[in-house]
Amino acid sequence: MKYLHLDQPAQFLKGVGPKRAEALVSVGIGTARDALYHVPRRYDDASTVTPIGSLEVGVDATCLGQVRSKGVIPTRKGLRVFQAVLQDDSGMITVAWPGQPWLERKIREGDTLLVQGPVRFFHGRQIQPREFTVLGREGDATPDGGTIFVTYPASEAVPQWVLRGIFEKNLDQLIGWADEDEFLSPEGRARLGMPPLSSALTWMHRPETLADPEGGRRRLAFDELFFLQVLQALIRTRQAEAQPGIAHTRTNSYVRPLYGTLPFDLTEAQARVLREIYADMESDARMNRLVQGDVGSGKTVVALFSMLLAVEGGSQAALMAPTELLAEQHARTLRAMVEPLGLEVALLTGSRSAADRRAALGGLAAGRLRLVVGTHALIQDGVTFERLGLVVVDEQHRFGVRQRMALAEGRERAPDVLIMSATPIPRSLAMALYGELDLSLLDELPPGRTPVTTALRRSDARASVHAFVDAEVESGRQAYIVYPLVSESDKIDLRAATEEYEWLSSEVFPHRRLGLLHGQLGADEKDAIMRSFLAGDVDILVATTVIEVGIDVANASVMVIEHAERFGLSQLHQLRGRVGRGAAASHCILIADPGDGAAERLKVLRDTADGFEVARADLAIRGQGDFFGAQQHGRDPQLRFADLLRDEDLLLVAREEARELAATDPELARPEHEGIRRQLHGRYRERLEMYGVG
Ligand code: ADP
Ligand code: MG
Repeated sequence: MKYLHLDQPAQFLKGVGPKRAEALVSVGIGTARDALYHVPRRYDDASTVTPIGSLEVGVDATCLGQVRSKGVIPTRKGLRVFQAVLQDDSGMITVAWPGQPWLERKIREGDTLLVQGPVRFFHGRQIQPREFTVLGREGDATPDGGTIFVTYPASEAVPQWVLRGIFEKNLDQLIGWADEDEFLSPEGRARLGMPPLSSALTWMHRPETLADPEGGRRRLAFDELFFLQVLQALIRTRQAEAQPGIAHTRTNSYVRPLYGTLPFDLTEAQARVLREIYADMESDARMNRLVQGDVGSGKTVVALFSMLLAVEGGSQAALMAPTELLAEQHARTLRAMVEPLGLEVALLTGSRSAADRRAALGGLAAGRLRLVVGTHALIQDGVTFERLGLVVVDEQHRFGVRQRMALAEGRERAPDVLIMSATPIPRSLAMALYGELDLSLLDELPPGRTPVTTALRRSDARASVHAFVDAEVESGRQAYIVYPLVSESDKIDLRAATEEYEWLSSEVFPHRRLGLLHGQLGADEKDAIMRSFLAGDVDILVATTVIEVGIDVANASVMVIEHAERFGLSQLHQLRGRVGRGAAASHCILIADPGDGAAERLKVLRDTADGFEVARADLAIRGQGDFFGAQQHGRDPQLRFADLLRDEDLLLVAREEARELAATDPELARPEHEGIRRQLHGRYRERLEMYGVG
């Protein structure tokens, strides 16, 4: 392989010895390439920096100057304040860091400092920095009209001024090497409207205007999205090639009759998604499709129609649910719909009796049973099918890629896979996370639903909320009261919830039947409690865990969520989806106090019932890192430059390019794709190995 300067260890950069090289690791710089891509995190120029002479009390400002004097000043209350006097051409100001005397050792006289914070009056003007940066030691320039000051992500071990020094000495060289990573031809760049990589990086490290960094960022964002999509496109083609799928043939022996017996018409969205699924199933390429639908959008019927197509064509179909309870619920629903057609539905879960299990296994192996619902028990050893043609996975977020792949192992033809997700995420995010899957959107709810009314209440209104819950229970309904539990091991939260439960049982609802559900209960105990709630033997279910996704208790009409500010919006939306499943008007009551800083966020929920909109708001508020975090694959990189909400256009273009590439050169064997191949491996080594691609 060609020798690349960018691959050399950072130690070979000018001004970096073995010690400093070690320190650089703390800011993520191990190689010359890492340094090149270590771009500033903020930019200031004369338009954002206020001359010290014009700083006004009461404003929040950024200023820049040199430290003229400094010292630690004790106050009467025993607080030690580090102070520095900062000077530029226009004047001087005191900068104060209460309670941070150790800064004495970090900041020296002569340092050039960039500080941001509120200006107040305290023995004269004073600024108390929220953030500050030592831009340089001993007399660097102060800003003039054309200068832009960059602030790099720094660390204790590698302060700002050190990084600036390193870039001062090495940036020209590094930018010169950027061409080693350039994988777009001049024609490609022109077609995509992208600058050369070297320009993009120059704009980010040494912008001439404040608009430059954004131009550079878009190129780096494109690159990230492109490689992610190439990875996924290759996985798609590789999977398709490795194993042919099944071309199901439609005879209408079950599908048509089901249409006839359904008590409702399919929604437009259901019909569209089914067409997409049928097209996949009828082709002999393997289906890998993700159906995203809001709570209550009718995914189960879609699953059933898909399963019936498989059965008509002579295959067996399996529906896999994340919990026993859900599996049982699905089995009941499916049985009600297919028994009139003369079809049987087997149920396979861990807790079935040995005899039941043997019977189901025998029926599946012999092919007498064509439809089966179950938990993970379905894909365990000892389960064999006569001819498995379709696997539907409900609630995909509990089901890993590996398990999905395991399904195909040992079979001559890979069964089609359909994944149902009840957690809508914005399309761009779905494409980034699940680019190897095809996407279908169930973006419409069946008609005639009474929407759930959502209300925000302060904690001092709790008594009236409880009175409301009591009235609903009095009229025969059931209710949920949910407490946050940040992690399953959070003892304090758990105790709080348990105490609340005891208080609710003895003081507030002594005349009602209450149940408590939390994550430290065993699966059996949880199931037992859910079952008694389902049977109506519990009036009010107090829960700390997210109540089983997808569980349908039609009689529950109230969802009260305590400390709503501690939940994510999508999570709240999911919880809200647990009510409004029956005929009764339902209510979701979010309890949070204004001081909790969540009012704005919670209003999104009050004002929209659309899960996709909620997800978008959630993504905007929480940031994509949170979403990606949950899906991390080993040491694979996060998206650093791409912003999935802002860059949806880039993502679409990148996806096109990537799929085109995977279709024309699936091995990336052509010489002109050598650079792409190399970078792909640099970025996604682990995942490529996991899928056996590349
Ligand atoms: P989810 O997408 O949350 O899994 P379900 O499949 O459980 O939703 O469907 C929710 C309810 O809507 C079920 O009671 C189902 O029978 C009903 N339903 C599904 N499709 C339609 C339709 N097209 N018209 C009316 N009701 C429907
Ligand atoms: Mg469902």
